[in-house]
Amino acid sequence: MITFHSLLHMIDTLHTEEDCRVYLENMRWNGKPICPHCGSISEHHYKLTKDGKFEGLYKCKDCRCRFTVRQGTMFEGSNLPLKKWFYAIYLFLSHKRGISSCQLARDINVTQKTAWFMLHRIRYNVKDDDANFNDMTQVDETYIGGKTKRNRGGQGRSTKQKTPVMGLLSDGLVYAKVIKNASSKVLLGVIDELVRKGSTVISGSWSGYNKVKNEYIHEVVEHSLGIYVNKDGFHTNSIEGFWSQLKRGIIGIYYLVSPKHLPKYCKEFVFRHNTRKESNRFNAFLQQSTERLYYGELLEKPEWQLIG
Ligand SMILES: [Zn+2]
Repeated sequence: MITFHSLLHMIDTLHTEEDCRVYLENMRWNGKPICPHCGSISEHHYKLTKDGKFEGLYKCKDCRCRFTVRQGTMFEGSNLPLKKWFYAIYLFLSHKRGISSCQLARDINVTQKTAWFMLHRIRYNVKDDDANFNDMTQVDETYIGGKTKRNRGGQGRSTKQKTPVMGLLSDGLVYAKVIKNASSKVLLGVIDELVRKGSTVISGSWSGYNKVKNEYIHEVVEHSLGIYVNKDGFHTNSIEGFWSQLKRGIIGIYYLVSPKHLPKYCKEFVFRHNTRKESNRFNAFLQQSTERLYYGELLEKPEWQLIG
Protein backbone atom coordinates (compact mmCIF):
# COMPACT_ATOMS: atom_id res chain seq x y z
CA MET A 1 0.00 0.00 0.00
CA ILE A 2 1.24 3.45 -0.82
CA THR A 3 0.88 6.50 1.37
CA PHE A 4 -0.11 9.31 -0.95
CA HIS A 5 1.40 12.62 0.07
CA SER A 6 -0.62 14.71 -2.33
CA LEU A 7 -3.26 14.45 -5.00
CA LEU A 8 -0.53 14.76 -7.60
CA HIS A 9 1.32 11.84 -6.04
CA MET A 10 -1.83 9.74 -6.38
CA ILE A 11 -2.45 10.82 -9.98
CA ASP A 12 1.16 9.99 -10.86
CA THR A 13 0.89 6.58 -9.24
CA LEU A 14 -2.58 5.49 -10.33
CA HIS A 15 -2.70 6.57 -13.96
CA THR A 16 -5.25 4.22 -15.39
CA GLU A 17 -8.44 2.49 -14.41
CA GLU A 18 -6.48 -0.75 -14.27
CA ASP A 19 -3.98 0.78 -11.84
CA CYS A 20 -6.85 1.72 -9.56
CA ARG A 21 -8.52 -1.67 -9.80
CA VAL A 22 -5.28 -3.52 -9.07
CA TYR A 23 -4.64 -1.17 -6.18
CA LEU A 24 -8.04 -1.93 -4.68
CA GLU A 25 -7.64 -5.66 -5.33
CA ASN A 26 -4.29 -5.76 -3.57
CA MET A 27 -5.69 -3.82 -0.69
CA ARG A 28 -8.72 -6.06 -0.27
CA TRP A 29 -7.39 -9.45 -1.34
CA ASN A 30 -3.62 -9.32 -1.13
CA GLY A 31 -3.23 -11.48 -4.23
CA LYS A 32 -5.96 -14.00 -3.39
CA PRO A 33 -9.37 -12.91 -4.66
CA ILE A 34 -12.26 -13.62 -2.31
CA CYS A 35 -15.57 -14.67 -3.84
CA PRO A 36 -18.27 -12.48 -2.25
CA HIS A 37 -20.91 -15.14 -2.97
CA CYS A 38 -19.43 -18.18 -1.20
CA GLY A 39 -16.36 -16.79 0.54
CA SER A 40 -13.90 -18.95 -1.39
CA ILE A 41 -10.38 -17.51 -1.27
CA SER A 42 -8.07 -18.51 -4.11
CA GLU A 43 -5.59 -17.22 -6.64
CA HIS A 44 -7.10 -19.71 -9.07
CA HIS A 45 -10.50 -18.08 -9.59
CA TYR A 46 -11.03 -17.70 -13.35
CA LYS A 47 -10.26 -14.40 -14.97
CA LEU A 48 -12.88 -13.65 -17.60
CA THR A 49 -11.79 -11.62 -20.57
CA LYS A 50 -13.69 -9.29 -22.81
CA ASP A 51 -12.34 -8.93 -26.36
CA GLY A 52 -9.24 -10.73 -25.14
CA LYS A 53 -8.68 -8.32 -22.28
CA PHE A 54 -9.10 -8.98 -18.56
CA GLU A 55 -10.88 -6.08 -16.88
CA GLY A 56 -11.36 -7.37 -13.38
CA LEU A 57 -14.26 -9.77 -13.84
CA TYR A 58 -13.68 -13.05 -11.99
CA LYS A 59 -15.57 -16.33 -11.95
CA CYS A 60 -15.46 -18.29 -8.73
CA LYS A 61 -13.86 -21.69 -9.16
CA ASP A 62 -16.16 -23.12 -6.48
CA CYS A 63 -19.62 -21.60 -6.81
CA ARG A 64 -19.03 -20.39 -10.38
CA CYS A 65 -20.59 -16.99 -9.70
CA ARG A 66 -19.08 -13.88 -11.19
CA PHE A 67 -17.64 -11.03 -9.18
CA THR A 68 -15.42 -7.97 -9.27
CA VAL A 69 -13.47 -6.24 -6.55
CA ARG A 70 -16.21 -3.63 -6.32
CA GLN A 71 -18.71 -6.05 -4.84
CA GLY A 72 -19.09 -5.49 -1.14
CA THR A 73 -17.55 -2.03 -1.29
CA MET A 74 -18.93 1.46 -1.63
CA PHE A 75 -18.22 1.21 -5.38
CA GLU A 76 -20.66 -1.66 -5.94
CA GLY A 77 -23.29 -0.88 -8.54
CA SER A 78 -21.52 2.27 -9.70
CA ASN A 79 -20.51 2.62 -13.32
CA LEU A 80 -18.13 5.45 -12.62
CA PRO A 81 -14.44 4.73 -13.07
CA LEU A 82 -12.61 3.95 -9.84
CA LYS A 83 -10.21 6.69 -10.79
CA LYS A 84 -12.93 9.30 -10.39
CA TRP A 85 -13.98 7.77 -7.09
CA PHE A 86 -10.42 7.78 -5.79
CA TYR A 87 -9.90 11.42 -6.72
CA ALA A 88 -13.23 12.34 -5.18
CA ILE A 89 -12.35 10.58 -1.93
CA TYR A 90 -8.94 12.19 -1.84
CA LEU A 91 -10.41 15.65 -2.34
CA PHE A 92 -13.16 15.02 0.17
CA LEU A 93 -10.65 14.00 2.83
CA SER A 94 -8.07 16.66 2.21
CA HIS A 95 -10.14 19.82 1.93
CA LYS A 96 -10.37 21.01 5.48
CA ARG A 97 -13.78 22.59 5.01
CA GLY A 98 -15.10 19.99 2.60
CA ILE A 99 -15.83 20.16 -1.10
CA SER A 100 -19.05 21.15 -2.82
CA SER A 101 -20.70 19.04 -5.48
CA CYS A 102 -20.25 21.87 -8.00
CA GLN A 103 -16.53 22.00 -7.36
CA LEU A 104 -16.15 18.23 -7.45
CA ALA A 105 -18.16 18.04 -10.68
CA ARG A 106 -15.69 20.39 -12.33
CA ASP A 107 -12.63 18.72 -10.84
CA ILE A 108 -13.42 15.19 -12.03
CA ASN A 109 -15.67 15.98 -14.97
CA VAL A 110 -19.03 14.55 -13.93
CA THR A 111 -22.42 16.22 -13.64
CA GLN A 112 -23.26 18.10 -10.48
CA LYS A 113 -25.96 15.55 -9.69
CA THR A 114 -23.47 12.70 -9.96
CA ALA A 115 -20.99 14.58 -7.79
CA TRP A 116 -23.71 15.23 -5.22
CA PHE A 117 -24.53 11.54 -5.03
CA MET A 118 -20.84 10.56 -4.88
CA LEU A 119 -20.27 12.92 -1.98
CA HIS A 120 -23.23 11.47 -0.13
CA ARG A 121 -22.01 7.95 -0.70
CA ILE A 122 -18.56 8.91 0.53
CA ARG A 123 -20.06 10.68 3.52
CA TYR A 124 -22.17 7.61 4.22
CA ASN A 125 -18.97 5.63 4.66
CA VAL A 126 -17.48 7.98 7.18
CA LYS A 127 -17.45 5.92 10.34
CA ASP A 128 -18.35 7.24 13.72
CA ASP A 129 -15.51 7.27 16.15
CA ASP A 130 -16.05 5.68 19.50
CA ALA A 131 -16.86 8.76 21.44
CA ASN A 132 -15.69 8.30 24.99
CA PHE A 133 -14.37 11.12 27.02
CA ASN A 134 -12.39 10.42 30.14
CA ASP A 135 -11.06 13.72 31.30
CA MET A 136 -11.02 17.46 30.72
CA THR A 137 -13.91 17.51 28.32
CA GLN A 138 -14.96 20.82 26.81
CA VAL A 139 -18.67 20.90 26.04
CA ASP A 140 -20.55 23.52 24.09
CA GLU A 141 -23.62 23.91 21.94
CA THR A 142 -24.08 25.92 18.81
CA TYR A 143 -26.77 26.71 16.25
CA ILE A 144 -26.48 26.02 12.56
CA GLY A 145 -28.51 27.01 9.53
CA GLY A 146 -31.64 29.07 9.50
CA LYS A 147 -32.44 32.20 7.61
CA THR A 148 -31.08 34.91 9.87
CA LYS A 149 -27.54 35.93 9.12
CA ARG A 150 -26.60 36.82 12.63
CA ASN A 151 -28.21 36.55 16.00
CA ARG A 152 -28.55 39.95 17.50
CA GLY A 153 -29.70 38.49 20.77
CA GLY A 154 -26.27 37.15 21.62
CA GLN A 155 -26.51 33.45 22.41
CA GLY A 156 -29.09 32.61 19.80
CA ARG A 157 -30.87 29.94 21.82
CA SER A 158 -34.24 31.42 21.00
CA THR A 159 -33.76 31.28 17.24
CA LYS A 160 -36.26 28.72 16.05
CA GLN A 161 -35.03 28.06 12.50
CA LYS A 162 -31.55 27.12 13.57
CA THR A 163 -30.63 23.58 14.47
CA PRO A 164 -28.81 23.03 17.76
CA VAL A 165 -25.68 20.92 17.76
CA MET A 166 -23.80 19.80 20.84
CA GLY A 167 -20.06 19.29 20.80
CA LEU A 168 -17.60 17.59 23.12
CA LEU A 169 -13.85 17.80 22.84
CA SER A 170 -11.02 16.23 24.76
CA ASP A 171 -7.39 15.71 23.88
CA GLY A 172 -7.87 17.03 20.34
CA LEU A 173 -10.68 14.59 19.56
CA VAL A 174 -14.10 15.95 18.94
CA TYR A 175 -17.65 14.66 18.77
CA ALA A 176 -20.67 16.58 17.52
CA LYS A 177 -24.29 15.59 17.75
CA VAL A 178 -27.43 17.23 16.43
CA ILE A 179 -29.83 17.66 19.33
CA LYS A 180 -33.53 18.48 19.61
CA ASN A 181 -32.96 21.45 21.89
CA ALA A 182 -30.39 22.78 24.33
CA SER A 183 -32.41 21.95 27.42
CA SER A 184 -30.72 20.72 30.56
CA LYS A 185 -32.23 17.29 30.05
CA VAL A 186 -30.83 16.85 26.54
CA LEU A 187 -27.37 18.27 27.31
CA LEU A 188 -26.96 16.23 30.47
CA GLY A 189 -28.18 13.14 28.67
CA VAL A 190 -25.37 13.43 26.13
CA ILE A 191 -22.73 14.16 28.78
CA ASP A 192 -23.99 11.28 30.88
CA GLU A 193 -23.73 8.92 27.92
CA LEU A 194 -20.27 9.92 26.71
CA VAL A 195 -18.24 11.35 29.57
CA ARG A 196 -16.80 9.34 32.44
CA LYS A 197 -18.38 10.20 35.78
CA GLY A 198 -16.20 12.18 38.13
CA SER A 199 -14.07 13.68 35.37
CA THR A 200 -13.82 17.38 34.60
CA VAL A 201 -16.37 19.00 32.31
CA ILE A 202 -15.80 22.54 31.09
CA SER A 203 -18.72 24.57 29.76
CA GLY A 204 -20.01 28.09 29.29
CA SER A 205 -22.39 29.56 31.81
CA TRP A 206 -25.64 28.51 30.12
CA SER A 207 -27.98 27.32 32.85
CA GLY A 208 -28.61 24.10 30.96
CA TYR A 209 -25.28 22.91 32.34
CA ASN A 210 -26.00 23.75 35.98
CA LYS A 211 -26.58 20.17 37.04
CA VAL A 212 -23.30 18.95 35.58
CA LYS A 213 -21.76 19.53 39.00
CA ASN A 214 -23.84 16.72 40.49
CA GLU A 215 -21.73 14.02 38.89
CA TYR A 216 -18.71 15.81 37.48
CA ILE A 217 -16.15 18.40 38.40
CA HIS A 218 -17.73 21.34 36.63
CA GLU A 219 -15.61 24.25 35.42
CA VAL A 220 -17.58 27.21 34.10
CA VAL A 221 -16.31 29.93 31.79
CA GLU A 222 -18.41 33.11 31.93
CA HIS A 223 -18.46 34.06 28.27
CA SER A 224 -21.29 36.50 28.83
CA LEU A 225 -18.97 38.51 31.05
CA GLY A 226 -16.32 38.55 28.35
CA ILE A 227 -14.20 35.95 30.12
CA TYR A 228 -12.61 33.27 27.96
CA VAL A 229 -10.33 31.56 30.45
CA ASN A 230 -11.65 31.04 33.97
CA LYS A 231 -9.63 31.70 37.10
CA ASP A 232 -8.34 28.12 37.15
CA GLY A 233 -7.16 28.30 33.55
CA PHE A 234 -9.99 26.31 31.96
CA HIS A 235 -11.49 27.32 28.63
CA THR A 236 -13.68 26.03 25.79
CA ASN A 237 -11.63 27.57 22.99
CA SER A 238 -10.90 24.27 21.26
CA ILE A 239 -14.50 23.25 20.76
CA GLU A 240 -15.28 26.79 19.65
CA GLY A 241 -12.49 26.54 17.09
CA PHE A 242 -14.14 23.42 15.77
CA TRP A 243 -17.50 25.20 15.51
CA SER A 244 -15.97 27.95 13.43
CA GLN A 245 -14.48 25.37 11.06
CA LEU A 246 -17.80 23.55 10.80
CA LYS A 247 -19.76 26.75 10.21
CA ARG A 248 -17.36 28.18 7.69
CA GLY A 249 -17.45 24.86 5.86
CA ILE A 250 -21.21 24.72 5.86
CA ILE A 251 -21.70 28.35 4.91
CA GLY A 252 -18.86 28.54 2.42
CA ILE A 253 -19.12 25.19 0.72
CA TYR A 254 -22.49 23.67 1.33
CA TYR A 255 -24.56 26.90 1.43
CA LEU A 256 -27.75 25.39 2.74
CA VAL A 257 -27.80 22.25 4.78
CA SER A 258 -31.24 21.06 5.72
CA PRO A 259 -31.65 19.82 9.30
CA LYS A 260 -32.23 16.40 7.78
CA HIS A 261 -28.71 16.23 6.39
CA LEU A 262 -26.95 18.06 9.19
CA PRO A 263 -25.99 14.95 11.23
CA LYS A 264 -24.04 13.61 8.26
CA TYR A 265 -22.21 16.87 7.73
CA CYS A 266 -21.32 17.00 11.41
CA LYS A 267 -19.97 13.46 11.18
CA GLU A 268 -17.95 14.43 8.12
CA PHE A 269 -16.30 17.39 9.87
CA VAL A 270 -15.71 15.37 13.02
CA PHE A 271 -14.04 12.62 11.00
CA ARG A 272 -11.84 15.06 9.13
CA HIS A 273 -10.88 16.83 12.32
CA ASN A 274 -10.10 13.63 14.21
CA THR A 275 -8.01 12.11 11.41
CA ARG A 276 -6.20 15.33 10.45
CA LYS A 277 -2.83 14.02 11.62
CA GLU A 278 -3.07 10.61 9.93
CA SER A 279 -0.93 10.57 6.80
CA ASN A 280 -2.60 7.39 5.63
CA ARG A 281 -6.22 8.35 5.83
CA PHE A 282 -7.00 7.75 2.16
CA ASN A 283 -6.07 4.08 2.52
CA ALA A 284 -7.74 3.80 5.88
CA PHE A 285 -10.93 5.22 4.43
CA LEU A 286 -10.81 2.93 1.41
CA GLN A 287 -10.35 -0.13 3.59
CA GLN A 288 -13.36 0.54 5.75
CA SER A 289 -15.69 1.70 2.98
CA THR A 290 -18.08 -1.16 2.56
CA GLU A 291 -21.41 0.59 2.65
CA ARG A 292 -23.40 1.03 -0.48
CA LEU A 293 -25.99 3.79 -0.57
CA TYR A 294 -28.86 3.80 -3.02
CA TYR A 295 -30.21 7.00 -4.46
CA GLY A 296 -33.73 6.32 -3.19
CA GLU A 297 -32.38 5.50 0.26
CA LEU A 298 -30.56 8.77 0.35
CA LEU A 299 -33.83 10.62 0.18
CA GLU A 300 -35.65 8.42 2.67
CA LYS A 301 -33.24 7.04 5.22
CA PRO A 302 -34.57 7.64 8.73
CA GLU A 303 -31.10 8.06 10.18
CA TRP A 304 -30.65 11.09 7.95
CA GLN A 305 -33.46 12.73 9.83
CA LEU A 306 -32.96 14.92 12.83
CA ILE A 307 -31.64 12.88 15.73
CA GLY A 308 -31.07 13.56 19.40
ZN1 LIG B 1 -17.90 -18.48 -4.91
